[in-house]
Formats: sequence, structure tokens, C-alpha cells
Amino acid sequence: MDKWIVHKFGGSSVADAGCFRRVAEIIEASPNPHEAVVLSACRGVTDALLGLVTLAETPDAYFPSAVEALKKRHVELARGLVSKAAFDTYREQLERDCRDIAGMLQTVRLIRSSTYSMRDVISGYGEIWSTRLFAPFLRERGRIKGDVLWIDAREVVIVEWGSLGPAVQWAVSEANLQRLVPAGFAGRLIVTGFVATTIKGIQTTLGRNGSDFSGSIFGALLNAAEIIIWTDVDGVLSADPRLVPNAEVIDQLSYNEAMELAYFGAKVIHPQTMEPAVARDIPIFIRNTFAPQKRGTLICANPYRRSRSRASRPSIRSRW
Ligand code: ADP
Ligand code: ASP
Ligand code: MG
Repeated sequence: MDKWIVHKFGGSSVADAGCFRRVAEIIEASPNPHEAVVLSACRGVTDALLGLVTLAETPDAYFPSAVEALKKRHVELARGLVSKAAFDTYREQLERDCRDIAGMLQTVRLIRSSTYSMRDVISGYGEIWSTRLFAPFLRERGRIKGDVLWIDAREVVIVEWGSLGPAVQWAVSEANLQRLVPAGFAGRLIVTGFVATTIKGIQTTLGRNGSDFSGSIFGALLNAAEIIIWTDVDGVLSADPRLVPNAEVIDQLSYNEAMELAYFGAKVIHPQTMEPAVARDIPIFIRNTFAPQKRGTLICANPYRRSRSRASRPSIRSRW
């Protein structure tokens, strides 16, 4: 059986309708029959959701219009992307979610403070909304073989929070995924990034920027051939491009080097992303959604950094 490829697209890659089309084209271009697509929330949505909580904690603040604005952004996005039937279903679910959010915010307003779990539940809606829309969008385009299955990572990824962050409980997470994906499934899994569940059954997140980690967790759970993290820059750069405009793309990095860069603040990849890949020796590619013809950066156990020729580099199995 062909091995899985796991793609992860960040918020900047699913910012608007044009971005959704671009992501779909990247997925459709890959001939591999088993691919998982982990998505972040649309750009700015997690910040906006957390902003709602802060707003609700503020005396005399009025939050309903801010909830309405988030709902409207997603409704407008969906209107241009899916059929009337899929749009109606999407809008109904969105309205239900927004009512739940407003209920939680009302509690926050009354007690003037929020709990961690409330913030986790509220901030996780962005990934639910982006993936619930992308799944019917990709299915209705009809350009891929096989099925499109929406996977809610809260039903799969079980973590135990500790001083080093969330520790994945692999055995139970693997069993959860096997339960949700029918044996012999061929097609695309559309997976919510960022969200997970604790061993006590409470909804949690993997921390800010955590969808990269989700991507590699699913890479490990599916024993993937490769994990591709699609973002808005050409790869891991020698410096933050917002501070150093002529920073250069690093062709290849070892897992350790990438981990160090991430721990010291290179926002392009979440520091825990490498762990699941190291254990199973899965290469991670960082690539640009807006320039998919570029090679990006390869993160693996034994990089061949001194030669930048294609010949010395492990091949990318997918077409892009
Ligand atoms: P995504 O929405 O794809 O998750 P992020 O905003 O989380 O994207 O990460 C990508 C951004 O990280 C880039 O746009 C860039 O500004 C920033 N960045 C900081 N340091 C680096 C680096 N060393 N290499 C590449 N990008 C970096
Ligand atoms: N949406 C989450 C965040 O903004 C997770 C992610 O995008 O990686 O932090
Ligand atoms: Mg990110």
C-alpha cells in the first residue's frame, strides 16, 4: 500500500477564498492515494477568538458584534466556495457554535475572568471552521479520486500536559484514528490542527502555532512517508525575514538544528514538531503555498547541506 503523505497548511495559507483554491490545487496535484491535510484556522481567527475572551473580561464590554463579525467572515467565505446545500449545513453549524461561544462569553462577563479550559475551547473553533468548510469544498470540486473524510483531532489526539508541554498518548491516539478511518480508506483526510483532548477528556490545544505539531503527530500516527508544512515563505530562512529582508532559504537542516531554531524563536515551525518525526525518521519539508514550484527546506536526520544539488537530496514523493 502507498504510504501516507501529511500536509499542513498554516493560517496564512487559508486566509481567504483564493487561498482555499490554491490549497485545493496543491492537494489535487498529488497523485498519492492517501493524504492527510491538516489545516490551521483562517488567518487571524485564533487571535480574534482569544480577543473575544479578553473583551468579555473587560468591564462594560460588548462582545456580540465581535462574534457576529467572525461568523460573517466565515459565512462570506463559504458562500463563494460550496454548493447551496453544503453552505446551509455549514452555516447552521457555525450559528450553533457562535451561540455556544456567546454563552461561554456571557459566563466570562459575569465572573469577569476566564478559565484555561474556556480559552482552549473558544480558541479551538477556528480550526473546526476552516476544516469543516475545506472538506465539502474539496469534495465538490470532484478532482481527486477517493473519498474526503473530515477528522476532528479532538477525537484522536490525546495529550497529557506537563512542564514540557503536551505529551501525546500514542497508543490511545492511534487506536482513536484507526476507529475513525475505515480500513482500506483511500482519499483525503481533512484534519483540524491545534486542537486535542486531555487524558481527562477535556478539550485542549497544542499551544500557539500548534498546528505544525498536529501535522507531525498525524504524520507519526499514519506512519507517513513525509510531512509537508506549507506556509507563506520559501522555507526556513537564515533569519526572520521581517527583520532581515535578504535572509536566505536554508536548503536542509537536521532535526536538532530545526528544533534549536524553533526553540530560539523561529516562528516558521513549532518547536515540538520535530519530536514525532524524529522517532519514526519521517522527513519534514517546509514549503511555500504561494510558490509551490520552489524546493523549500528539508528537515531530516542526515542532511547533505554542503551540496545543494537535487541529486544529493532525498526525493519528494509528491508531484509539487
Ligand atoms: P503559518 O500561518 O503558515 O503557520 P507563521 O506565521 O506561523 O505561518 O510562520 C511563518 C512566518 O514565520 C513567516 O511569514 C516569517 O515571517 C516568520 N519567520 C520567523 N523566523 C523565520 C525563519 N527563520 N524562517 C522563516 N520564517 C520565519
Ligand atoms: N491557529 C493556531 C494559532 O494561531 C494554531 C496554528 O495556526 O498553528 O496559534
Ligand atoms: Mg504557524
